[in-house]
Amino acid sequence: MDLTLSAEDIAIQARARAFAESYLFPYELECEENGGLSAESLNTIRKAVLEHRLNAFNHAVEDGGQGYTHLQQMLIHEELGKATCGLWAVVWTASLPLKHGTPEQRRDYLFPSCAGRRRSCYAITEPEAGSDPRMVRTTAVRRNGKYELSGEKWFVTSADAADFLLVHAHVDGDSDKPTLFIVEKDLPGVIVKRIPKFMHTYVFEHYEMLFDKVVLDEAKILGGIGQGYELTKDWFVDARLEIAAHCVGAAIRATEIANDYAAGREQFGRPIRDFQAIEFMLADMAVEIMAGKTMLYRVGWEIDQGLDRKLVHARASVLKLFCSEMAGRVIDKAVQILGGRGYMRENPVERLYRDIRVDRIWEGASEIQRLVIAGQIKKRGLGVYTGWT
Ligand SMILES: Cc1cc2nc3c(=O)[nH]c(=O)nc-3n(C[C@H](O)[C@H](O)[C@H](O)COP(=O)(O)OP(=O)(O)OC[C@H]3O[C@@H](n4cnc5c(N)ncnc54)[C@H](O)[C@@H]3O)c2cc1C
Repeated sequence: MDLTLSAEDIAIQARARAFAESYLFPYELECEENGGLSAESLNTIRKAVLEHRLNAFNHAVEDGGQGYTHLQQMLIHEELGKATCGLWAVVWTASLPLKHGTPEQRRDYLFPSCAGRRRSCYAITEPEAGSDPRMVRTTAVRRNGKYELSGEKWFVTSADAADFLLVHAHVDGDSDKPTLFIVEKDLPGVIVKRIPKFMHTYVFEHYEMLFDKVVLDEAKILGGIGQGYELTKDWFVDARLEIAAHCVGAAIRATEIANDYAAGREQFGRPIRDFQAIEFMLADMAVEIMAGKTMLYRVGWEIDQGLDRKLVHARASVLKLFCSEMAGRVIDKAVQILGGRGYMRENPVERLYRDIRVDRIWEGASEIQRLVIAGQIKKRGLGVYTGWT
């Protein structure tokens, strides 16, 4: 096994880092203070996304993307994850299930999304359906050759930036027919119910939405009736890997800031890093990051070698669980090392502390990842994690 980064990997990593440092970090305070960015700031960042060839970096060239390897995608996510206020979300990665669309759906939704002319958001969660999506009550009832969509969705991330939604609904109310529908946001019956506030300051909103008898053509079904879980699973796996990489990046940034501070801050006549309590925290932080990063690059490399889809699913849960919890522990220590300054919103470490809390909740909470991992151990044996195949 050779995990050395190629010259191309290093160039892509450097490009993503330069982008984050020049076009995300400088906008963090504007976002924190205003709860979002001005249209002008968003436009500047979006232009830079194209210039840095970061749009749709999760897709193959034939699907309208950049054709990067999975390892390269993780390197990019890691760099973007260093930014606070969810500014990485401005870098659009067209939703993966769209690549399974019909030629017309690819033309109307996938390619324009990759180019940045359109944007989707994903609506699965409901008041009664969170970790258990079989509890979804949104229905698509067949009537006169069309579908009538009705229901309520919560936490629809980036719904304000999107112009269409991928909505997970049960056809005819049958939980054995989970299906994804492409829903234009301006259709009659698509209603924004509420725009709640959250712990993090995020560049976009998380809407609560109502669908009141929204009429949809059959052509708006993505991937076929009953395919909802399969497509959503692909999206979950992708999102879990992305979260893991963001968390590694966030932990690295917080540790770098804490390390610099510990070297410069003097109390009791010497730099605080000379106190063992502080240097041991930094040591533990470095070890945690190395463990997460090693796992991340290993899995990225394995996917590029053609790792079986089921094993990718199994590994994605480990990565998401470990890296999100690791970032929580590491960034908590960074706040401690910075003392009162680590508690100020103007400090990136404070923002990272709030930002990464949700990574233990969305795209399958930590408990759900443990269920997946335990299930894999039962089904495939412990070796799926402790072995080396
Ligand atoms: C900021 C934010 C953005 C989001 N964006 C989106 C989005 O864009 N689209 C979307 O569809 N959803 C989105 N979500 C929803 C998110 O995916 C859910 O919050 C998550 O899946 C958990 O569901 P829940 O909140 O209903 O918690 P619940 O499922 O009610 O769980 C509550 C607690 O019980 C635990 N629990 C549940 N079942 C079990 C079990 N079997 N064993 C042990 N413990 C269990 C959970 O782990 C959790 O700790 C977002 C959420 C947030 C906070």
